[in-house]
Amino acid sequence: MTAPSSPTLARVLRGQLCSGCGLCAGTSDGAIAMETIAPGYARPRQNKPIDDPVEKRITASCPGATVAPWQEAPHRHPYWGPWHACLTGHATDPAVRHAGSSGGAVSMLAIHALQAGMAERVLHITADPEKPTRNIVTWSRSADEILAGAGSRYAASSPLEQIDQALSQGTSFLFIGKPCDVSALRQLATVDPRVDALVPIMLSFFCGGLPSHDGADRILHHMGLAPESVTEFRYRGNGWPGLTTAHTRDGTTATMSYAESWGNHLSKEVQFRCKICPDAVGGTADIACADAWYGGESGYPSFEELDGRSLILTRTRKGVELLKSAVNAGRLAVETLPITEIDLMQPAQARRKRLVSARLVACAITLQPRPTMDGLDVAAASRRASTREYLKNLLGTIRRIVMNRR
Ligand SMILES: Cc1cc2nc3c(=O)[nH]c(=O)nc-3n(C[C@H](O)[C@H](O)[C@H](O)COP(=O)(O)OP(=O)(O)OC[C@H]3O[C@@H](n4cnc5c(N)ncnc54)[C@H](O)[C@@H]3O)c2cc1C
Ligand code: SF4
Ligand code: SF4
Repeated sequence: MTAPSSPTLARVLRGQLCSGCGLCAGTSDGAIAMETIAPGYARPRQNKPIDDPVEKRITASCPGATVAPWQEAPHRHPYWGPWHACLTGHATDPAVRHAGSSGGAVSMLAIHALQAGMAERVLHITADPEKPTRNIVTWSRSADEILAGAGSRYAASSPLEQIDQALSQGTSFLFIGKPCDVSALRQLATVDPRVDALVPIMLSFFCGGLPSHDGADRILHHMGLAPESVTEFRYRGNGWPGLTTAHTRDGTTATMSYAESWGNHLSKEVQFRCKICPDAVGGTADIACADAWYGGESGYPSFEELDGRSLILTRTRKGVELLKSAVNAGRLAVETLPITEIDLMQPAQARRKRLVSARLVACAITLQPRPTMDGLDVAAASRRASTREYLKNLLGTIRRIVMNRR
């Protein structure tokens, strides 16, 4: 039997505001567990009552309820967030650069932090060996283990699913997660002092949205493979952007271009919360990385296969120190980039940010719950939207919400 529902969880789930971060499960002493629901999203299920302190912790930290505000920094952009330095770069170790999703910057920063003694281990996600299109939480203590998790994995991930247990172990760890995961951990720090004491660095990346497992299954179907036959699956990486690659038990290997796997399959399966995401650029991380795509002839980025190049934004003093240390140690090669260049690399991120406000107004009109999202420049970004695209998105979101209720 299901226990009485936490008011915060009930509201978040009713509004389709859950990102699947796992924090509620990870801080509820077993009362809440993550499960997979159709069409393949990670969602919490409450199995036991929770007490007031747990409810308060979830209300403060759940990114479906409250999104962490951007931090103070010397510069700030309504799309690209707070920043100290805006750079492009890549890991100098060719193996890391190749394995990484873009230039291997995230993995290299984590490897450097570990080897320089800044953290004892790394909490991140990797492929589930049982179901290789899916993700599991993992602890890495070596460069090889960090590299085994490199590459973007466009499927549900709940890296905070065991966060209370991790914090109670008393050893420091670097955290890598989606922007909403980092938001949740930052907000948890406001009510749990162990976070600041034990998590010296939080790394994130730009996030175009999290697809359901149906997205990966569609790719496999298109490749002519049964999901049960797959023993290894990479969404991308091993090159930039690298191919979506599946290996099966009988030795078959099938591939698909990133443009096709993301454009034709995965992007169609993104959860609703991502469409109103006010900080998909990792604005609350110490460092956020992304693809430093080169512009294509169409005005949109080109996905031509090249040596990996990451966009790197340092967002806090700690981030500045870590980057400086990695560059001085010869681990990363970087170049300065004017912030306005990101508009050309990331047009989809820019578009979504300026339309978040229109979509939130649609939620308000249809009496749908919305997360609190102060201090994230949502209004400033919306002033860059044309009246036409604003109204189109307002009406489109109203229509979608009403259709979903039928
Ligand atoms: C769902 C998703 C959407 C993305 N959308 C964009 C986008 O719109 N624009 C853009 O520029 N970049 C996007 N990226 C990020 C981009 O693909 C690269 O991850 C980023 O450029 C960092 O590359 P890297 O080579 O430095 O990282 P790597 O060295 O490859 O390290 C990647 C790290 O991210 C972690 N990770 C991978 N998948 C997940 C996941 N699902 N949840 C939590 N942690 C994960 C891994 O554990 C690994 O530690 C997205 C990534 C994901 C997972
Ligand atoms: S967003 Fe995270 S904390 Fe909020 S309900 Fe979903 S899994 Fe729980
Ligand atoms: S788009 Fe936002 S809410 Fe969705 S997974 Fe990415 S960071 Fe989380």
